[in-house]
Amino acid sequence: MRDTSFPSDPLQQFIDAVGIALDSHSVESKFLPEIGEAMRRLIADDHWLADTYAQPHETYYQQYLLHLDPANRFSVVSFVWGPGQATPIHDHLVWGVIGVLRGAEISDPYSAGSAGHAPVQGSPQRLNVGDVGYVSPSIGDVHRVRNAFDDQVSISIHVYGGDIGAISRHVYDHDNAARKPFVSGYANKAEGTPRM
Ligand code: FE
Repeated sequence: MRDTSFPSDPLQQFIDAVGIALDSHSVESKFLPEIGEAMRRLIADDHWLADTYAQPHETYYQQYLLHLDPANRFSVVSFVWGPGQATPIHDHLVWGVIGVLRGAEISDPYSAGSAGHAPVQGSPQRLNVGDVGYVSPSIGDVHRVRNAFDDQVSISIHVYGGDIGAISRHVYDHDNAARKPFVSGYANKAEGTPRM
């Protein structure tokens, strides 16, 4: 049974709210806004994220697993951006909700193109502290994300509709219009580690 001695734990409240949204609605257009509101509440306060999951790496952005739903319906991760760090162009293949906890990030959206290749860039979207963004194959799934700052760390909290670190998805090459298989893993869980 869940420990209820800390009923104000924001992360646990968020996890509960995501579970309720998924139990209540099977249609993405119904549950995504509810999860977005839960994300807004989660990132309204910046005291709950353990320092362990807020550590930048000098070279690579970090993705720490905070929670994996026992039924693999969703995962919650902290994304920690060192100054100037950026992802490659990538897709998710599941829905995702992003909320900025510290700093700011910029998402450059791409269209996957008719053959799933040849991404075409749209206009950048900046998310500041407290802002929430969405991705999914139905509303736009391909983007490149970067820290908006080159002199400070930014942190965002993400929830995805699956075990995002284990999903086989794609990175895209802007120049030659190719895409390659990609499994992100988690910074706090070595890729290929047997899962319990
Ligand atoms: Fe992404």
